[in-house]
Amino acid sequence: MKINSENLYDQYSLTNYGKAPITLVRGEGSRAWDDTGKDYLDFSTGIAVTSLGHSHPVWVRRVQDQAATLVHCSNLWRNPNQARLAAKIAEYAGPGKVFFCNSGLEANEVLLKLARLHGREKSGAEAKQFHVLTAYEAFHGRGFGGMAATPQEKIQGGFRPMLDGFKHGVLNDIDSFAKLIDEQTAAILIEPIQGEGGIQPCTREFLRGIRELCDRHGLLFLADEVQCGLGRTGQFFAFEHAGVRPDGIAMAKGLGGGFPIGAVWIDQTYASLFQPGSHGCTFGGSPLACAASLAVFEVMEKENLLHRIRELSASWHLSLQSLVEKYPALLKEVRGRGFLVALGAQDDPSPIIGKLLEAGLITVPAGGNAIRLLPPYTVKEEELQESVDILDAVLGEYE
Ligand SMILES: *Cc1c(COP(=O)(O)O)cnc(C)c1O
Repeated sequence: MKINSENLYDQYSLTNYGKAPITLVRGEGSRAWDDTGKDYLDFSTGIAVTSLGHSHPVWVRRVQDQAATLVHCSNLWRNPNQARLAAKIAEYAGPGKVFFCNSGLEANEVLLKLARLHGREKSGAEAKQFHVLTAYEAFHGRGFGGMAATPQEKIQGGFRPMLDGFKHGVLNDIDSFAKLIDEQTAAILIEPIQGEGGIQPCTREFLRGIRELCDRHGLLFLADEVQCGLGRTGQFFAFEHAGVRPDGIAMAKGLGGGFPIGAVWIDQTYASLFQPGSHGCTFGGSPLACAASLAVFEVMEKENLLHRIRELSASWHLSLQSLVEKYPALLKEVRGRGFLVALGAQDDPSPIIGKLLEAGLITVPAGGNAIRLLPPYTVKEEELQESVDILDAVLGEYE
């Protein structure tokens, strides 16, 4: 029997998202099925979340086992999964400490609080040095901290006044950031590859320039790796491609492979700015959430997925590039790295994204001008080719 979910959905779900044309009920690997039984190649991965694909057997087993053992116990007590996961993250990020939360917005909130603690320590007073610099096309989440850090009408409109203390520079223009620095500046927060902004990568020189500016002026370099991190680019963190290391890192989306979990890593130099009582999160780092995330690391390492992403993406990008050359009236360029990719479009790509969905390929719009392609790390080579074939057919027909 088919449940009439459409009516229930429209009746009870808050209308803050646009009306979705399909209802998904099941997933396996790179594929998802709707309530009519039609199957799709899912290159949205729930917006860069289901990094191992849908229902990876190892992930499912670890989550089931932990659910039957201990789900939640609060941060009043130690839990071994949290300790193991923090150590694992530090293995990739460097010497430092980790705080757990549930989402990207919460992770960035911790970075913004860290900036204020840093400014207070340096200036010797509260509210003297608390400005955070971000990029115009950035996206840092929908809380009052994240919104203020995201200077766009579509995010801020209707919710002003914004939180005080944010200034904005132009991505990849280091002078535009240097000019903003004064005695009130505490930190610079950057996405090494902008996600919602349309998959816009920072140049290597820009990220190095930000690191230098922060060193010269005693500011914190904060990286929002919520979307570009966790292995998606073929390195665990996207900033690694530039050979720099930030002082604080926000993580979420792909970290739990579908289970909600966010994390913040803070360099050991600054980790003690947080003291008992200065922050908290009831659900953060539960045994179950950490088991899900540990399963992501387990599979990523056992199946050597970072290496695999680097290898498979090289030829996939070439195929995508050839589509750009075949359909210049529709497509401008391929942007991004590894499995964090966008086809930059000449116009609003929404109609093409709709046709792709009808043809069985799920993609996500980004920045109003791009078709985002986010395959799971476990995607098969044939499935990458299938995505190119579907794109080719749909673009050919659309043209
Ligand atoms: C998605 C995203 C966020 C917000 O994460 P939520 O889990 O939706 O709160 C923040 N920063 C970046 C770069 C993101 O892509």
